[in-house]
Amino acid sequence: MALLGCIADDFTGATDLAGMLVGAGLRTVQTIGPLEGPLPADIDAVVVALKSRTIPAEEAVAQSRGALAWLRGLGCRRFYFKYCSTFDSTDRGNIGPVADALLSDLGSPFTIACPAFPENGRTVFRGHLFVGDVLLSESGMRSHPLTPMTDANLVRVLQRQTRRKVGLLAQPAVAGGAARIRERAAALQAEGVEIAIVDAIGDADLLAMGEAFADLPLLTGGSGVALGLGPAYRARGLVPAGEAASRLPAASGRRAIVSGSCSVATRGQVAAALAAGVPGFAVDPLRLAAGEEVAAEALRWARPLLERGPVLVYATAEPEAVQAVQGKLGRERSGALVEEALAAVARGLVEAGVGRLIVAGGETSGAVVNALGVRALRIGPQIAPGVPWTATLLGRPLSLALKSGNFGGPAFFVDSWEKLP
Ligand code: ADP
Repeated sequence: MALLGCIADDFTGATDLAGMLVGAGLRTVQTIGPLEGPLPADIDAVVVALKSRTIPAEEAVAQSRGALAWLRGLGCRRFYFKYCSTFDSTDRGNIGPVADALLSDLGSPFTIACPAFPENGRTVFRGHLFVGDVLLSESGMRSHPLTPMTDANLVRVLQRQTRRKVGLLAQPAVAGGAARIRERAAALQAEGVEIAIVDAIGDADLLAMGEAFADLPLLTGGSGVALGLGPAYRARGLVPAGEAASRLPAASGRRAIVSGSCSVATRGQVAAALAAGVPGFAVDPLRLAAGEEVAAEALRWARPLLERGPVLVYATAEPEAVQAVQGKLGRERSGALVEEALAAVARGLVEAGVGRLIVAGGETSGAVVNALGVRALRIGPQIAPGVPWTATLLGRPLSLALKSGNFGGPAFFVDSWEKLP
């Protein structure tokens, strides 16, 4: 029975957290929303992916409470609300309202809020969030289209979103270790603080935080706070020691890559795969718009090649080509046409015997996962930072690597297969 139930406010954020938990030694399953039916018994953590980051706060609260109720029903006893390491939110929500509702439902008087992820350059110092060397409010996040972040002081940002009192658990107390952190948290609670922004400038701070707060019913943060939970739970005997958290069932079936990302890293990966001799089929959005049966053509092309090795079907193109297509079809229509075609290709490939599939692109991955009817994934070994191999649960067994655009090295499409069991 899983110990830790996590609620993530978007899909790739859920995968990020799930990978972090596996890295911290917890056997983890990611689901797409709450599921019907049981999950495997041999897991320590469940991460529910919602799409609640930018929806109205009342809806985010309702979805998150639904996910919490489902996780409690599974037997989880600790909970984690995961949001972005850049604290993406507006003054109207959604981090404060969701944290409030989860605290109320759990009957808990206190939680922390810490988006720090030092390895990725997100640090919190004296309550201020830094992205690399600059304050959040001076980073590119200040002009984000949906959640512009113009204030780096997280105590202020969060206080605008909640009626609960927000406080600060700052350095140097954090650097003083778990006992000092607990003391400071008790003092804050005595002052009426219900949510404490916690400083973290390095992984040692996150490990101390994990130890200090492992017994809180609710934690909130980016994926960084998860770093310290594995060791803390093991020290308490809450999860078994010595289990290989990233173990997946043996992979089998034909291999394929479907790429709908046009990001720099993916363009390099497509070029490297073609140069290495991986057969490639390019999907032309203009032919899709003209109503041509491009997905069926790609599948006819792929079927005889599959028994020889991996094949690559890609819409990946250079920025000028993408702009030209968007100029003709519009950004949304071209994106939707390509996603739909690649999702149909993925489904056809699986029907043709593909059991090991790499998908490049965040939106593309969402479309493929939907088309394949995937509802739950067991998280396996890391291929590159932020990208684990996963195995589907419930339904047809598949090995999936879902890569967001800029992740992975140049040989990702060629080498990743070696990381599979
Ligand atoms: P990333 O993770 O790199 O952002 P996504 O899959 O999230 O990748 O987004 C890429 C978007 O670009 C998708 O909507 C996809 O359908 C679209 N797209 C892919 N190839 C092309 C192309 N050649 N022309 C226009 N749009 C494209």
